[in-house]
Amino acid sequence: MLELRKIFLEGAEWDFVGEIVGRSVIMFIVILVILRLSGKKGVRQLTLFEVAIILSLGSAAGDPMFQEELPVIYALVVLFSVIVVYKLVTWLASKSVFINKILEGEAMVVVREGMFEMKHESDSDFSKMEFFSELRNQSVEHLGQVRTAVLEIDGTMSILFYPDEEVKYGLPLFPDAYQEATREQENVWVACMYCGGVISYIPPTRKCPRCQRDKWANAINTKRV
Ligand SMILES: [Zn+2]
Repeated sequence: MLELRKIFLEGAEWDFVGEIVGRSVIMFIVILVILRLSGKKGVRQLTLFEVAIILSLGSAAGDPMFQEELPVIYALVVLFSVIVVYKLVTWLASKSVFINKILEGEAMVVVREGMFEMKHESDSDFSKMEFFSELRNQSVEHLGQVRTAVLEIDGTMSILFYPDEEVKYGLPLFPDAYQEATREQENVWVACMYCGGVISYIPPTRKCPRCQRDKWANAINTKRV
C-alpha cells in the first residue's frame, strides 16, 4: 500500500507553509514582469528557441517558491540573465540570416502545385500526418486546391489556394475519402496516398512514379466553399 502520509507530509515544516505562499506570489509577479520584458505578446506561436527560454524561466522561477534554503535573489539573477541572453540572441538573429536559421530553423515548402514536395522526404521532421491535420484545420479538402503550402518555423501552415476554375484533382485529406482504392474502384484520376502525385490510372505495378510507394486513393476536385 502506498504510504500517502509519508508522500504528502513527511518532513513538512508547518511554519514554512506561510512563507511558501509569500514566495509563490513574489515569483509569480516576477515571472509576469520578465515575460512582459521579453516583448512577446502571447504564447500561441512559439519557436523552439522561445520554448527553451520559457522552460529555463519556469524552472528557475519554480524552485525558490518552496525551497527554504534558496533565497529568491538567486532566482532573480537567473531570470534576468536568461532574459538578457534572450534579448541579445534575438538581436543577433535580427542582424544575421545565418544565426536566425540556426536558432529557429527555416520555413519549408510542403505542398507545391497540388502535390507534396518530395525534397524533404528524407528529413526526419517531415511528418505527413501532421501536415494532413494542419491542412484540414485550414479547411483544405484535397491537395488539388493548394498552389503552395509553407510550414512556418512556429509550426503554423501558410497556404495559397488556386482560384476555383484552376482547382485540380488532388489527394483527399479527410478520412472518409482518404481510402485506398482497388483497381476496380478507381475513378478517372487517382492520387498517391503518400506524395499526392495524381495520375489517370493505377499503374499495373501499383508503384507511384514519384515516390515508388504503392497506395492509391481516388482523387477529387471539389471547389473551396
Ligand atoms: Zn507517390
